[in-house]
Amino acid sequence: MLEHLPEDKKVDYLILERSVFSNPLGSAISLHASIIPLFKQIGIWEEVQKASKPMSHFSLKCEDGTDLGSVDFAYGQADYSYYGLVMARPDLHEILLSHVPPEKILTGKRIVSVTQDDIGVSCHCSDSTIYHGDILVGADGAYSAVRQSLYKDLKDHGNLPRHDFSCIKLDQVVVVGITEPLNPNEYPMLKEDVCQFRIVLGGNDRPYSVTKLRGNREGLS
Ligand SMILES: Cc1cc2nc3c(=O)[nH]c(=O)nc-3n(C[C@H](O)[C@H](O)[C@H](O)COP(=O)(O)OP(=O)(O)OC[C@H]3O[C@@H](n4cnc5c(N)ncnc54)[C@H](O)[C@@H]3O)c2cc1C
Repeated sequence: MLEHLPEDKKVDYLILERSVFSNPLGSAISLHASIIPLFKQIGIWEEVQKASKPMSHFSLKCEDGTDLGSVDFAYGQADYSYYGLVMARPDLHEILLSHVPPEKILTGKRIVSVTQDDIGVSCHCSDSTIYHGDILVGADGAYSAVRQSLYKDLKDHGNLPRHDFSCIKLDQVVVVGITEPLNPNEYPMLKEDVCQFRIVLGGNDRPYSVTKLRGNREGLS
């Protein structure tokens, strides 16, 4: 978003990213219709549209194929003029990345702690480098090192709410992937323009999902 600010409102920025992006992983990602105006605003809507399928609904099934029900996503069309979308997560990653000039992203930079004072904020990375800025946007995921630093600061000053004391628990392990292109004659659902997000409630409390993607692929998780 910072990259798409008007010229007279440009803010100099730098992204510190832990990974090296050699091979973005993932399965399908479903995107609510409300995100589409943002995609338009940052100029990636046409690319996303080409790489995605509109999503009509989530369907829930038992492992033996029995229908359990469905969640209708067509309401997005009435409320937002769009359906929700489904696309391959690595494709979305690639589109977003292609709009950020390479010199704005430093990869292999794992932030281990953050300090701030009256002048600004400093990010301390695992390779002993330190980056200074006026503002830090912490977008480093569920186990955010930025948030942990902030919480430590708040806790030291007695300002951290009690319900934020406990750490996030790891209670799920997910296996994800995308198939190679499949033969649509063998899998006729691939020919449909609209995608169903199928969630199967498998045995042993292990649900999984199968999603039809562009390029005759299926996303599995
Ligand atoms: C299995 C699964 C399926 C999901 N499906 C959907 C879906 O269909 N639709 C949907 O909308 N949401 C879905 N979500 C949720 C969605 O993925 C998250 O809400 C979203 O990715 C959060 O974005 P984020 O930018 O906060 O963090 P992330 O996407 O986790 O990105 C964090 C980034 O920060 C980097 N990073 C992490 N730590 C550091 C550090 N210390 N220093 C520097 N960089 C760091 C990471 O490498 C990563 O690039 C799903 C989540 C899971 C686990």
